[in-house]
Amino acid sequence: MTFNTALENITTYEAGKPIELVVREYGIEKSDIVKLASNENPFGCSPKVKEAVRVIVDNMALYPDDSMVKLKDALSKKYGVNTNELIIGAGSDQVIEFAIHAKAHTGSKVLMNSVTFAMYEIYAKQVGANIIRTASREHTMDEFYALYVEHKPSLIFLCTPNNPTGDAIYAEDMIAFIEKIDNDTLVIVDGAYMEYARFKDPAYAVEPKELIERFENVLFLGTFSKAYGLGGMRVGYGIAQAPIIKTLYKVRPPFNITTLSLEAASVALEDEPFVQGCIADNFNEMKRYETFAKSKGIDCIESYTNFITLALPETKSSSQIAQELLKKGMIIRDLSSYGLNAIRVTIGTSVQNDRFFTLIEPLV
Ligand SMILES: *Cc1c(COP(=O)(O)O)cnc(C)c1O
Repeated sequence: MTFNTALENITTYEAGKPIELVVREYGIEKSDIVKLASNENPFGCSPKVKEAVRVIVDNMALYPDDSMVKLKDALSKKYGVNTNELIIGAGSDQVIEFAIHAKAHTGSKVLMNSVTFAMYEIYAKQVGANIIRTASREHTMDEFYALYVEHKPSLIFLCTPNNPTGDAIYAEDMIAFIEKIDNDTLVIVDGAYMEYARFKDPAYAVEPKELIERFENVLFLGTFSKAYGLGGMRVGYGIAQAPIIKTLYKVRPPFNITTLSLEAASVALEDEPFVQGCIADNFNEMKRYETFAKSKGIDCIESYTNFITLALPETKSSSQIAQELLKKGMIIRDLSSYGLNAIRVTIGTSVQNDRFFTLIEPLV
């Protein structure tokens, strides 16, 4: 059978290995498996969210509130933006899909960093767009600008802090860059880890409100999957001026967020101290990874996120190390598919991190 030829050169997204598969393939008890592969919050979500969701369980027959009024009000309050400047997706992933489908088509150009979130490329290729990438590992605004001038892309992705490397763009540099971009180019600022950057060093954080007040061509993305500990609920959002949001709504399927997820995300925003506590713990534990890397002569990239990327020496293979760890029930991310001989490890609880150090010690 023939399919849309645009799909021929798409490599399917490879998610962090699920715990369920490791149980099956390696016969390891579920309780002995530690997953530090998808940058989830190891402490999960606020206990208040769990209570609220239990109540919702009695109310699953009706379709969800498609106006999403409770969640939009909560986000509008948090960010100081209007509700017509918000769109909710099944993960911010879905908002990326909306944006690409709304803006790009066959032959459009989409500019992104050399190493960055894999879904940008996948969605762009679905519509037959061409991918333009920088050469540097870290976002370099001068290089982005030169490629912008050369190619005049329809969309530009800035992932800050960047996944899978963890580095972030200095906010002033990013603003100065966006100022030079024409209004018909949509600039997507993916802030999936912005809560972490804001905590670590506000010079690397941007406020969505300021961005959209200043620029009519910027879409900011946020998610509940990382700091808010709701990866299983699939909720993310986009913030932009009303005309962009109105257009994105044209490609959104109805009822894209479940009743449970809407409630969980709304209540998660009511417990900011819980999230800030998790973030503080994250950066304390991260110091242990930095110390470990230093003691082993491993190069680690300064991280503004809840994961750390360890660049291995040439004598070690990241895929081999990931495989060895997997056999022992430790799931981390091998970055060889990104062209890096590196592993990405989500910062876990102190007990999970102890386990990681014990298991990796003999391998490096
Ligand atoms: C995790 C992640 C997302 C999206 O996560 P969702 O679970 O779909 O909200 C988007 N961008 C980056 C860079 C991420 O790491």
